[in-house]
Amino acid sequence: MPNDKRIAVLAASAMITALIWISVLATDRSVLKVTFLDVGDGLCTVVRTPSGKTMVFDCGTSSWRDNESIGTRLAAPYLQSMGIDKIDVAVLSHPHSDHVSGFAGLLAAKPAKLVLDTGIKEGSPEYMKFIRAIRKCHARYRIAKRGQVLDMGDGVKVKVLDPTMIASNSDLNEECIVLRIVYGQSAFLLAADAGDEAEHEMLSDGIKVRAQLLQVGHHGSRLATSPEWIEAVKPDIAVISCARNSQYHFPSRQVVERLEASGARVYITGKDGAIQATTDGNTIWMRTFRNSW
Ligand SMILES: [Zn+2]
Repeated sequence: MPNDKRIAVLAASAMITALIWISVLATDRSVLKVTFLDVGDGLCTVVRTPSGKTMVFDCGTSSWRDNESIGTRLAAPYLQSMGIDKIDVAVLSHPHSDHVSGFAGLLAAKPAKLVLDTGIKEGSPEYMKFIRAIRKCHARYRIAKRGQVLDMGDGVKVKVLDPTMIASNSDLNEECIVLRIVYGQSAFLLAADAGDEAEHEMLSDGIKVRAQLLQVGHHGSRLATSPEWIEAVKPDIAVISCARNSQYHFPSRQVVERLEASGARVYITGKDGAIQATTDGNTIWMRTFRNSW
C-alpha cells in the first residue's frame, strides 16, 4: 500500500475509533445503568449514574465453591472493566450469606465512601468481615431507614422504602433494605429478599412503590411478590436473581406466571446471564449477557 493511502486508512480508522468513543461517552453521560450480575443464588447489583457515581447493592452468593471470592473474582473485575476505582455507596440489604459473602473482598479492592446497612448485628464470619472491611476503607456507616433519600446527582435519587426502624424481627428477609431509584420518569425498585409481610406493610403505609423495573423479592420465591404487590408496582420489567439450577428451586413458577400475566417481561440471571437495564429517564433498554462474550 502506498504511504499516502496507508496514512489515509490510518486516519480513517482513528476517526472511526474516536467517533465510537465519543458516542459511548455521550451515551454514558446521560444514562443510568443498573446491572444485575449473574452470581447464581444470590444478589449483586451495580448502579452507575450518568456522571459516573457507583452504587453496589449487595454482593453475595451461595452457589460458588468459595462464596467469598465472588467479590474479588467477579464484582471487583466487573467494576475494574468499567474504570471504577471506588464505590460511592455500598448497600447491604440484609446480612444473609447470599447477599454479603463477597462484600469484604469487594471493599478491599474497591473502597466505599458510604455504607448503608440495616444495623442488625449478625454474628456470621462473613458479616464480621464486612464490618471490618468498612472500617479498613474508612467508609461512613449509616443505618438505613424509611424516608432517607440519597442524592446521587444528575437528578438520580435513591429512596429508602424499608425498613422502618432498627429491626428486631427474627426474619431478616422481612427487615431488608428496599430501595426505589428514580431518574426522570423511570423508577427501579430493588426489593432484595423482602417477602409478603414487608410488601403488605409498605402498601398499607401508602408508600409509593410504582416502578418500571422490579428486582423481584427473594429470588422469585413463592413467599414474596404477592398479587397486591404486583398490582401496586406495575412493573414492565421483572428481574429475578437466581441460579440456573437453583438449590432452593427458585424462581417459583407461580410467581413467574403471575408477573407474566400482569404484562411484565421476566428476566432471570440463571437463564439470561448478567442483566443490564439502561435508561435515559424515559425509555429503558434491556441487554442480557449470556453467551455474549
Ligand atoms: Zn437472598
